[in-house]
Amino acid sequence: MVLSRGNPKAKLLIIGEAPGPEENRKGKPFVGRAGQLLDQILQSANFDPEQDVFITNSVFRMPPGEAGKTFRKLTLKEIEYYRPFVFEIIRLIDPLIMLLTGNTACLSVLEKSGITSLYGKWKQMDRYWIMPIFHPSYLLRNPISEPGSLKALMQDDLKKVRKKYD
Ligand code: URA
Repeated sequence: MVLSRGNPKAKLLIIGEAPGPEENRKGKPFVGRAGQLLDQILQSANFDPEQDVFITNSVFRMPPGEAGKTFRKLTLKEIEYYRPFVFEIIRLIDPLIMLLTGNTACLSVLEKSGITSLYGKWKQMDRYWIMPIFHPSYLLRNPISEPGSLKALMQDDLKKVRKKYD
């Protein structure tokens, strides 16, 4: 079971998708290539990935059938199965801000998908500020980094998060 990394007292909670093979080996979320990119983007907005954030996923086990490198989309049933546990983590961490990376986390927490229209816009749920952002794996599949690129858009979103956090 891959549950979390970071600081449980953090005010910024990041919710990803599911562990991949690297996360499964190390028992921590976002420790592979996507995680390195996530850390880099957090640092570009002056967030320390160990101190300032708590990171978890929408699904806590590597989806069966993903032992090699092939990526498998999660089923709605898998996302719904873990949803109560995700909400329990939200309750326990009690952040101020949550970042939902990609469609799976949006489906888990907001019960909505459509990241290309949801990203970068604030939502409010109970007392939490929520921002959907792109999933770093999506950026790795579209690697150009110039103004207007996915990475630049995500860095802009993180700047908005920094402002609200401050
Ligand atoms: N992608 C995720 O969404 N979560 C991980 O833990 C690793 C990669």
